[in-house]
Amino acid sequence: MIELIKGDITKITCDAVVNAANSSLLGGGGVDGAIHRAGGPEILEECRKIVARQGSCKTGEAVITTAGKLPAKYVIHTVGPVWNGGNSGEDEKLRSCYINSLNLAIENGCKTVAFPNISTGVYGFPKDRAAKIAVAAVKEALNKSEIKKVLFVCFDDENVKQYRELLTSPTWKF
Ligand code: ADP
Repeated sequence: MIELIKGDITKITCDAVVNAANSSLLGGGGVDGAIHRAGGPEILEECRKIVARQGSCKTGEAVITTAGKLPAKYVIHTVGPVWNGGNSGEDEKLRSCYINSLNLAIENGCKTVAFPNISTGVYGFPKDRAAKIAVAAVKEALNKSEIKKVLFVCFDDENVKQYRELLTSPTWKF
């Protein structure tokens, strides 16, 4: 099942919330800042340990940590591509963010996963194009996994509009 929600991803109760992180995994602005602020220092502590162990997180890859004080069990940090005109593999890298995040969720027994609109803030990915990639990747994964529900948590009206158009059934559920 897919659900569209307008709001703040830090308020969502589910197994895993996905963070649009940067490769340092040390926090930043936008949704990343909001997740670290609301979740508290435990998340950053685990991120630091991951970086010490394996180095930075590459674009399209994902890592998992505690969700600290958030109402979720885990935060999955994935690094979206910076938009650079569309001919630098941005589409495939964004798709990898969704696929790798869902695979990590499955490996950790998660049944419900909430995604922000990765790369559509400071990283400048066109929102219509990003929404199509996100919905296609998620639908594909839902068809062949144990994941029960994916929530697209849109923060801005333009993203809500793009997802609403794509998720055409009356309740926006599949
Ligand atoms: P990126 O660097 O991947 O573009 P941003 O955090 O700048 O990441 O933006 C990604 C998306 O997250 C944007 O569409 C922005 O509107 C949205 N966003 C910002 N804060 C929140 C939040 N608290 N909950 C959900 N989405 C958010």
